[in-house]
Amino acid sequence: MSNAMIINGKEIGQEIRKSVAEEVAKLKDQGVTPGLAVILVGDNPASQTYVRNKQKSCEAIGIYSELIKLPNEVSEDELLEQIRSLNNSESIHGILVQLPLPKHINEDKVIATISPEKDVDGFSPVSVGKMMLGQETYLPCTPYGVMKLLEYTQVDIAGKHAVIVGRSHIVGKPMGQLLLQKDATVTYTHSKTPDLPSITKQADIIVAAVGRPNFITKEHVKPGAVVIDVGINRDENNKLIGDVHFAEVEQIASHITPVPGGVGPMTITMLLYNTVQSAQKKLLQDK
Ligand code: NAP
Repeated sequence: MSNAMIINGKEIGQEIRKSVAEEVAKLKDQGVTPGLAVILVGDNPASQTYVRNKQKSCEAIGIYSELIKLPNEVSEDELLEQIRSLNNSESIHGILVQLPLPKHINEDKVIATISPEKDVDGFSPVSVGKMMLGQETYLPCTPYGVMKLLEYTQVDIAGKHAVIVGRSHIVGKPMGQLLLQKDATVTYTHSKTPDLPSITKQADIIVAAVGRPNFITKEHVKPGAVVIDVGINRDENNKLIGDVHFAEVEQIASHITPVPGGVGPMTITMLLYNTVQSAQKKLLQDK
């Protein structure tokens, strides 16, 4: 028996990408091609795959993408210099540094060097601060994508209890903030939270961003809850699986995101969206 409505991130992502592509075409009519620069340091295979997917997605909707590949032993100064040069580039509207970086490079310093006007990942301290204050800024792509999934699925957020499992800078923390801004009552949980199921069982909305396969089971979920699975893990057969035990939880949830095809496609979609927003803002400024 399957009860939950499956939230189709692939379909929703495509719908948003279609309207982003229309905005790209309008910009091009005005002589502007939105440009995204992606900096990849080293040869981490997972990072290479992510970067390739981002580039392909840009090309598919007419965004210019530039890949800057730097060797693993690049110095921090050289990397910072590269970012400063992109900050000043007329053809680049968004800058993304693929994480993680090699250990000899200070990630915080690198992210803080990206101009807030081009921080389409929404990770810089300025972007995070503005998000906290509810000011206009680029929102981090994964939690922003989750908000779009909830919006397109018409899930009520105001007054609901949202429990976030995970408190990373890129997913858990901003996720709670965005839900709070939509008037959810938000609880953060993490690895030091005792008796996690007693808390997640109170949730109307659960967002799992843990990085542990099948971690959220039916014991964690109140019947009728909306369950969003951010996790991307590989099982013993190298198959992609989420943080949520899908087969169990779909029996009792009202809505659930699958892995793959749930949150994943939304992250790149929102990156494209933010890049085009940046190009639109620049055009307005230049007028
Ligand atoms: P992360 O930085 O490793 O953070 C994991 C979080 O889970 C931490 O806050 C950790 O708590 C918490 N945690 C670990 N064990 C726990 C437990 N037993 N009970 C409760 N909380 C626990 O990971 P992340 O970057 O947020 O990513 C999370 C997952 O999402 C990963 O699978 C990642 O691949 C995936 N992801 C997907 C996308 C996408 O586009 N779909 C984007 C980004 C990430 P502490 O803080 O106490 O250590």
